[in-house]
Amino acid sequence: MIDVRWKAFFFICSLSIVSLFIWLTTSAIIALLTFASGLLAYLYILVDGLHQLQSWLKKPAIEDIPVGFGLWEDAFNAILKYERKNNLKKSELNAALERFNTVANAIPDGLVILNTTNEIEWCTANAEIQLGLSLATDKNLPIVNLVRNSNFIAYLYNGIYEEPFKLKDSRNADAILEICIIPLVSKQKLLISRDITQLEKVDAMRRDFIANVSHELRTPLTVVGGFIETLSDMEGAVPANIRSYFDMMQDQTTRMRRLIEDLLTLSHIESNTLPPEDRPIEMSALVNMMYNDAKALSNGKHKISVNVDNQLNLTGAIDELQSALGNLVSNAVRYTPEGGEIHISWQLRNKQAVFSVKDNGIGIEQQHIDRLTERFYRVDRSRSRETGGTGLGLSIVKHILTRHQAKLEIKSMLGSGSTFSAIFPDSRVIKK
Ligand code: ADP
Repeated sequence: MIDVRWKAFFFICSLSIVSLFIWLTTSAIIALLTFASGLLAYLYILVDGLHQLQSWLKKPAIEDIPVGFGLWEDAFNAILKYERKNNLKKSELNAALERFNTVANAIPDGLVILNTTNEIEWCTANAEIQLGLSLATDKNLPIVNLVRNSNFIAYLYNGIYEEPFKLKDSRNADAILEICIIPLVSKQKLLISRDITQLEKVDAMRRDFIANVSHELRTPLTVVGGFIETLSDMEGAVPANIRSYFDMMQDQTTRMRRLIEDLLTLSHIESNTLPPEDRPIEMSALVNMMYNDAKALSNGKHKISVNVDNQLNLTGAIDELQSALGNLVSNAVRYTPEGGEIHISWQLRNKQAVFSVKDNGIGIEQQHIDRLTERFYRVDRSRSRETGGTGLGLSIVKHILTRHQAKLEIKSMLGSGSTFSAIFPDSRVIKK
């Protein structure tokens, strides 16, 4: 296509040549008149085109683009081409958006996008149903005005979203939603809600079953254990040749009793949805108690040391923490061969309070580390049994720590030893 500037130049040149020719063949006045009327016509075409463009811009529909004349014909053709391309892109974008909406609405989980100030930007139909929202009326409203649950609000503002949050539906007492929040790069948040009512029911049934069975087994086992103990202690009641059987029976009943106690503890912690009873804990006393327990358990077989920050305390449930931290200490003693070293420490690390137990015992192969907190997961079954383990200790530890928003960190190398650390968040730390 020829540049419009060239077109204008050719027109003026042609008009000048024609006017010059008229001047030479007829008269100067006619030539001047021809030149002036040519220029006027040209100006009229320009102004008329501009007028058509202005009118079209008021309501720019592709089917109404003017045809134009001369220079304007090229300009309007270019606009038409551009608009067609734009329309194609728009319809492609619309189709993609529609596809996205169809897929998002087909997902059984609810999806909500929150802006930086936690206002609803967008949500799917399932989120509307599960959370009682309506995108049409609730767009740009803070989600905390609509999901009015104080624990959910605390979870949202806390900013720690590693663990999902269980939300009891205020409109339906039986329904339970699992809420996950994923921070997006744009500082927005993606909230995912999932209806876990059925899963929770099954889980509650499983917990109740385990708790009931454990509870029912406790009494007969206590009776059997008691009789075995009485008979063992009774002079002449057990013939010498079968005494070893009695010792074995006593060991096994003790193991079963320990197992039942651990199962009951675990199901009690699991079914306890209430937050722990938070009280300030004098940690130096608790850690020193752990140190003394470790020494008693080790019975002089290990070198045990302790390092406590006396200024560092914690809020939490003391009985739960005593059980969790005690478990880490007893594991270190049980899995460290005689002559080994165990170091217990309670220190501040990057604003977080850390209780750690380091040993130079048997250590754990890397592939087992992620699974240690699973119920009954044991690296070496016979070794665990030998040391009186139930396979439930670390599972209990993990649950207790999660209830305190704390994390369990495990570092270990086979043959070199392990460090188990309970890391408590800044919000639970008390500095004297
Ligand atoms: P258990 O009652 O068998 O000790 P736990 O849940 O307390 O069960 O621990 C799970 C497994 O983790 C143990 O069987 C053991 O193999 C491993 N483990 C735990 N603590 C240590 C440790 N300090 N050193 C080496 N292995 C350990």
